[in-house]
Amino acid sequence: MDGLQRCFDQLAWPQADQAAKQPGATLVWPFGACEQHGPHLPLATDALFADRILNSVFEHLDAALPIWRLPVQSIGFSPEHQPFPGTLSLSAELMLQLVDQVGGQLASMGVKRLVLFNAHGGQIGLLQVAARQLRLRCPSMAVLPCFIWSGVDGLQSLLPPAELAHGLHAGQAETSLMLHLAPKLVGPSRPVDGAHGSGSIHAPPDGWSLEGAAPCAWLTSDLSETGVIGDARLATIELGSQLEQALISHWTQRFKSLLCSDWPPTKSVVDWPRKS
Ligand SMILES: [Zn+2]
Repeated sequence: MDGLQRCFDQLAWPQADQAAKQPGATLVWPFGACEQHGPHLPLATDALFADRILNSVFEHLDAALPIWRLPVQSIGFSPEHQPFPGTLSLSAELMLQLVDQVGGQLASMGVKRLVLFNAHGGQIGLLQVAARQLRLRCPSMAVLPCFIWSGVDGLQSLLPPAELAHGLHAGQAETSLMLHLAPKLVGPSRPVDGAHGSGSIHAPPDGWSLEGAAPCAWLTSDLSETGVIGDARLATIELGSQLEQALISHWTQRFKSLLCSDWPPTKSVVDWPRKS
C-alpha cells in the first residue's frame, strides 16, 4: 500500500468513514516532544523517531490490514527539560484533555483501537493515565500506550549495560539513531554527562534510582549541564542502523499480533458489575 493511504488525514471523509468502520480498525497516533536533546541533537528528536519508525513499520504490514496513522503530536509533556532554551511543554492537564478529546471522537467514528506510539520517555506515565481514562469513557475502543524503546528485543546486545541503565537522554542510542536517520541534523559535539558523566552531578540516594523500581522524578538540571544524560561519545551510524532495524522488527511484530487479535474484549465495563 502507498504510504499516503495509511495517513488517516489524507483520506476524504467517505474513505475515513469506511476506514473507521472496518472490523478491528486501528489508528496509531505518534507522540514526540519539542525539547532540548543536548547541544548536538534537534529539539524534534523524539517526534522524528516516532514518525520515521512508524512509517517504516507500516511498510512491513500487509496492505489489507485495517491500520492508519495520525500526524505526529510534536509538542508533548517535557517539564523536566524546561529551563533549557527551545523546550516547549504542554501541561499534564492539557495532554490528558488532548488524548481524551481526539480519542473520544475516534471512538465515536467506530475506531476499535488507538495506539499511542510514544518516543518521549518523560510522558510514559502520563499517556498511560490518559489511556486508562479514555478506555473507561469509551469502552468499545482499546487504547494502547506504548513507548518505542521499551521491551525491544535485542537492545541488550546492542548497548552497553551503563547506557541501558543511565543513558536516558541524547546519549549513545538516540545520537546513533539520529546519525543514521538524519545525519544533517546532528551537530559535532559528543557530550558525556549525567549519572556516568563528570562526577560533579548528584546521584540518587542509595537504593533509589533515576527510573525503575524506586524512581526520583529527576529534572535534567539535577543531573546534567549539557542536557545529555548518557554517553554520546559512543554513538556510531552503524549502531543507529542496527537500532532502527531492532525497533522496526519489534514494532512490526507487535502491530501484526494486535491486528490478528480480538482485543479489546467485547464484554467490558458496560457489562460490569453484573446485575442479577
Ligand atoms: Zn529523546
